[in-house]
Amino acid sequence: MKISLSLALLLIPFSGATAGAAEPHEGAKWGHADASVAAVLTETRGTKHFDFRFAGDETVLKDLFSCMEGAYKRVSKVLAPLPARLRVEIYPDINLYHKRTFGENSAGWMVGNFDPDENVIRMTSPASPGPYHTPGDMLVTAAHEFTHAMTFHFRGGTREGLPVWLDEGVAIYYSGQLDERARKRVRKALAENKVPDIAQLQENFMIYDGYTFAGTIVEFISAEYGGKKLREFIMDPAGQERIFGLSPAALNEAWRKRLAAKYGNKP
Ligand SMILES: [Zn+2]
Repeated sequence: MKISLSLALLLIPFSGATAGAAEPHEGAKWGHADASVAAVLTETRGTKHFDFRFAGDETVLKDLFSCMEGAYKRVSKVLAPLPARLRVEIYPDINLYHKRTFGENSAGWMVGNFDPDENVIRMTSPASPGPYHTPGDMLVTAAHEFTHAMTFHFRGGTREGLPVWLDEGVAIYYSGQLDERARKRVRKALAENKVPDIAQLQENFMIYDGYTFAGTIVEFISAEYGGKKLREFIMDPAGQERIFGLSPAALNEAWRKRLAAKYGNKP
């Protein structure tokens, strides 16, 4: 089985030191996906931009449908409309979702992913969010995975040359995951002098609460340079110096400075 790192994860409300993630990155132990599990998804619903497949009563999914159309409207303005409708598979039970994607022994925080090879978002239902997420978190997760799909297609259907932190940062920022919980983690890291450098995020995303900090880097780029430069950067991350006029070290410093000014404890 081809294992694609693009399986994106989601976000998470862990209360621990690491923020949460919902997707497995490099180093994750992969199980075997069982494609036959998809047979449980007997219902379908088409909205303006999505084809949903699910099981059982769709009443519990109404908010999810509209949340994803809302994300489409918001993010397509920043990036670009998708070239085609997107399929979304919603598994009625987190164990079935795991069975279909990363294997039965997957961690409970793994609740959704975008699979670029098959161009499909898979997730567990808000009705079965597992031990670490609330039903409401699943709406945010859906928007997060959708942003991964949009980023992928914006780049012409490839993640080649796209740093994990940039892919995740865009997903975090545009799905509204820099919420109060995340801001609290940033303030704590600043107070304890534990803010990672961008290069550290690239090397070991999960150890450094990569989701949260990646989101603040994209927040910084968007605020300081605007959407046009951000789009250029997403398209050509290697062109960073040309696009921003800053070396990697200078960009890192500029972001850290802004982070301290925006989130640091004011006297
Ligand atoms: Zn992600």
